[in-house]
Amino acid sequence: MRDIIGQDAIKREMCRSVQQGRIPHAMLLSGPAGVGKLPLALAFAQYLACKHRTDTDACGTCPTCMQYSKLQHPDLHFAFPIVKVDKGPEVCDDYMADFRTMVLANPYCDANDWTQTMGAEKKQSLIYEKESSEIMRKLALKSFGDGYKVMIIWQPEKMNATCANKLLKLLEEPPAMTVFLLVSEHPEMLLPTIISRLRPIAVPRLSDEQIEAALRNRQPAVGTQLAKDAARLAAGSYREALRLLDSEDRDKQLFAEFQELMRNAWLVGVRKNYDALQKLNDWAMIMAKDSSRERQCAFLQFAQRMIRENFIYNYGEPALNYQTTEQQQFSVKFAPYINERNIEDLTQQFAQAEAQIMQNANARMVLFDLCLQCIVLIKR
Ligand SMILES: [Zn+2]
Repeated sequence: MRDIIGQDAIKREMCRSVQQGRIPHAMLLSGPAGVGKLPLALAFAQYLACKHRTDTDACGTCPTCMQYSKLQHPDLHFAFPIVKVDKGPEVCDDYMADFRTMVLANPYCDANDWTQTMGAEKKQSLIYEKESSEIMRKLALKSFGDGYKVMIIWQPEKMNATCANKLLKLLEEPPAMTVFLLVSEHPEMLLPTIISRLRPIAVPRLSDEQIEAALRNRQPAVGTQLAKDAARLAAGSYREALRLLDSEDRDKQLFAEFQELMRNAWLVGVRKNYDALQKLNDWAMIMAKDSSRERQCAFLQFAQRMIRENFIYNYGEPALNYQTTEQQQFSVKFAPYINERNIEDLTQQFAQAEAQIMQNANARMVLFDLCLQCIVLIKR
């Protein structure tokens, strides 16, 4: 429990239910991605198994705790969605090593992390019928110690119908000394008959302060402002905050390019500075020559986002504004140039350039045309 960010009320309630021997057969931990549902399920399982637990946590050092912390206790079982490959993996156990590595590296992992880990971004992952036999087989095993067996079902909404019905039967007549922990971002996709057999635990979003502290704890080298920004933009998800920190470098570069483009368009359009026109021409040439199409499109998408953010910035509603501090500083001067008279056309020009580049148009011409449009539109 000690490594989990926030969620104190849930931790307290979990500990209390174990101490008082009111252990539910089945719980549903639901909530947005990256708020700690899986870490809570794992911590609860460990707390339940540890013989030396305190009022607030497992001891963390006994042999049972050691096995749990490596996700290798024989009474701890998992089911999760997998991608089936011809003559390849069929059940979760075939993927267990990968799953373990991912969860140990980041217990706040989400569905995207898992499809990436499996190398299956474009394929559908499911919990197949065969898994339900696996679940039954594992729960029929004699427990290793004299404690509970725990079955953690991650993303149970991905069970196919047969599997879901078999699980329902298990929940209707739960095997003795067994706890099911279902961990779901989409509980609305579960059968109502299954939900009615689960004790619900709604896991809420984290606060900005909790996320910021956790980021600085994990990466002490990260700057205060970066951590603050990532925490604010992550909307309560620690996973998202980590992702934002990773993408920070790329965005910084895109932002520098966006600033440069807009500054030069302004210089030509408003100040009649024709050196800046040459710079725009150079930019289009270099971008077309040196950047991949993906990179060009990434820039054009980023620019559309910036245009939108600067338009919103004018309304002085910080809660609606998703910009880093550096971006906001630029907006102080730049945002007034994005207004009702040009927002639609500007956005459309960038979107059109993106579409043309996707269709293999001549990138240099598309990008330079875009510069000319910006020169005209930014004056409006
Ligand atoms: Zn222990």
